[in-house]
Amino acid sequence: MTGVPADPAAVAARREALAAQGVHTLLVQFTDLHGTPKGKWVPLDRLDSVVTTGAGFAGPSIWGTALPRTGPRSEYYARGGLDRIEVLPWNPGVARVVASGYVDGQPFDACPRQVLLRATARLAERGWAMRTGLEPEFFLLKRLPDGRWRPFDDLDRLDKPSYDLKSLPRQSRFLQGLREALEAMGLDVEQIDHEDAHGQYEVNFGHDEALRSADHLMGFKLAAHALAEHEGAVFSMMPKPFADQPGSGLHAHVSLWEADRCVFDGSDGGWSAVGRHFVAGVLFHAAALSAIAAPTVNSYKRLTVGESLSGTTWAPAFVAHGPNNRTALVRTLPGRFEWRLPDASANPYLALAALIAAGLDGIDRQLDPGPDCADDLFALPLDEIRRRGIALLPQHLGEAVDALERDEVIGGALGETLHREFIRLKRAEWTEYARHVSEWELDRYAAAF
Ligand code: GLU
Ligand code: MG
Repeated sequence: MTGVPADPAAVAARREALAAQGVHTLLVQFTDLHGTPKGKWVPLDRLDSVVTTGAGFAGPSIWGTALPRTGPRSEYYARGGLDRIEVLPWNPGVARVVASGYVDGQPFDACPRQVLLRATARLAERGWAMRTGLEPEFFLLKRLPDGRWRPFDDLDRLDKPSYDLKSLPRQSRFLQGLREALEAMGLDVEQIDHEDAHGQYEVNFGHDEALRSADHLMGFKLAAHALAEHEGAVFSMMPKPFADQPGSGLHAHVSLWEADRCVFDGSDGGWSAVGRHFVAGVLFHAAALSAIAAPTVNSYKRLTVGESLSGTTWAPAFVAHGPNNRTALVRTLPGRFEWRLPDASANPYLALAALIAAGLDGIDRQLDPGPDCADDLFALPLDEIRRRGIALLPQHLGEAVDALERDEVIGGALGETLHREFIRLKRAEWTEYARHVSEWELDRYAAAF
């Protein structure tokens, strides 16, 4: 299996620089369909083969590849570039190589990172680049001996825990350690806070070009998992661990650029027509996008309307857009919008690729997003929402997957294999859940009739 030749002098220089930093091992990391980082350790002196051929993996052992068990297409190569290598401060001697999938010498169409590369290439054809700021919310949890899950911090019990300054310092070893790790990996950490649920936090880092932004999120996940384990805690990006508390979003702040001109800016100081069409595309494809951006059974317990212990969930359920409107799917701001649909379980490569496809479709068909919505949608009765023609997001994973199956634009962005595999796996996940008999059902029905 041959790969692309990398400049031997550049490879040697990089290898020596990494060795001088104490690195002896490369963590060649790719991302599977579920958004989970996967990979292997490779000695530093193999850097050349990692950036020319890639590290080899058994293709069928990776979620979503649908690769055969035999023959040349059974081997999945994770190939990195010299530009995405980061020393991992929590794992001395190890540097992460951000890799994409290759099969039989060609970019593998169903690798999520390749999916996003294809989408950003479509933008580049028009002279555009998308910048995204991804905002991960997450929980620190622990598992009790009886198997129940609880917030890691027993003292974190305020009725309205947003921005709590008593529990934040109790997790400072983890949170400050995470900050240091992210900064060492080249991320620009902007803020860290306690969120609306017990045991829930958010870390914000600077926005970046979409692919790099997704790469950063995967680095964030690796760091947070490892550092939480050092504390004896479980880092969780489950969308909604506790029914009576808010869930975890992965909001994306999105802007489109032509060199240093923001394409969403209109000449009158408001939004450009292109920007409005882009938002319209995001709203038009909301149901199919839900399957990608809210991809678990549990995601739909976050995307409900109603009160939580702390007042509101802040998770969008309505397909609407409005200036600084956090109750809508799309919150518009000058020159950018916040896409509030994604939750913490979303694969960032697939979510951003699907978003680009939706936005470009809106532009190509000159879709109209309709009037701005300034209302607090959480306060409006459902029949009023319906009267205004505001659609609801899918109410469960099965519905979202059906919408994804019908949506040729989003399906096209994923590519045939990944679209099919995503639907197959997620439908199986939904069916398994739907057939499961829960404690709630037993409590309600066992002795009821
Ligand atoms: N946790 C909320 C969500 O699931 C978002 C809260 C916020 O706006 O920061 O989307
Ligand atoms: Mg938040």
